[in-house]
Amino acid sequence: MKKLSLVLFAALPLSAFGHDVEINGKIAFDIQKVADGVYAAIVPQPAMPAVSNSAFIVLSDGVLVVDSHMTRDASRALLSEIQRITKKPVRYLVQTHHHGDHVGGNPEFPEAIDIFAHENARENLRKSNQTGARLPSATLNGGLTFHRGREVKIGYAGRGHTDGDLYVWLPKESVLIAGDLVFNGYIGFMRDGYASDWADTLGKLIELKPQTVVPGHGKIADVNAIKIFRTYIWDFIVAVKKYKDEGMSGSQTVANFKMPKSYESWGMQDKALKDNILRVYHQLPERN
Ligand SMILES: [Zn+2]
Repeated sequence: MKKLSLVLFAALPLSAFGHDVEINGKIAFDIQKVADGVYAAIVPQPAMPAVSNSAFIVLSDGVLVVDSHMTRDASRALLSEIQRITKKPVRYLVQTHHHGDHVGGNPEFPEAIDIFAHENARENLRKSNQTGARLPSATLNGGLTFHRGREVKIGYAGRGHTDGDLYVWLPKESVLIAGDLVFNGYIGFMRDGYASDWADTLGKLIELKPQTVVPGHGKIADVNAIKIFRTYIWDFIVAVKKYKDEGMSGSQTVANFKMPKSYESWGMQDKALKDNILRVYHQLPERN
């Protein structure tokens, strides 16, 4: 009984308030319970040592983690938070895509686990691996379902943020862990993206009608966040096209670009806007 009450005591503050995790005196992420045995580590500001969100799901025989943060410090902190919540071992890591802010800390994960990724994500990471991440040990190009006390679906819905984005879907709990297919309140990174395909891919995620969406960056949301982000992608493509149709070059478009009003306050403009404009500009059909 004593053990049980301790477990309850440890779990209560999590569901009620979230739990801030500090690294070197700074809040790196906040552990939030999104369903029974399903938690997200939400980064308040995308800055070192943790830039993107992660999540973990307690299965019957172990824990499945989705993304491993950028740094080993952040991965270590995440693993110790997991062990605070459950004594089950971490058995699987799903990397939603190859970007360093999602994979960099993965050498901290136990040697024996399988690391899942889309086959294109593994190839992308093999070619460019600035954070020294471990390469995925298991790849897929379609879907995969875990049946381990609960159903967890790993899916690929088409090109989007990259050419190898996986999402994680819990149908019973209606929780979608979207990786960087969904940014909430940020303009997103498009430099490896396929903007018009991305909007179509988001349409497939909207069809799932998730009640809870854990985005790659930003706060936990619901299906509306996906709809808003898809509208933003459409609006952004139209905005860039206007400059191209006027005959401006890529660099002239960057110099003159005005973000559509609805998105002026969104974050990451300093880091990503220029690359996003150029990527979309070059993917638009050439004028005749
Ligand atoms: Zn990314």
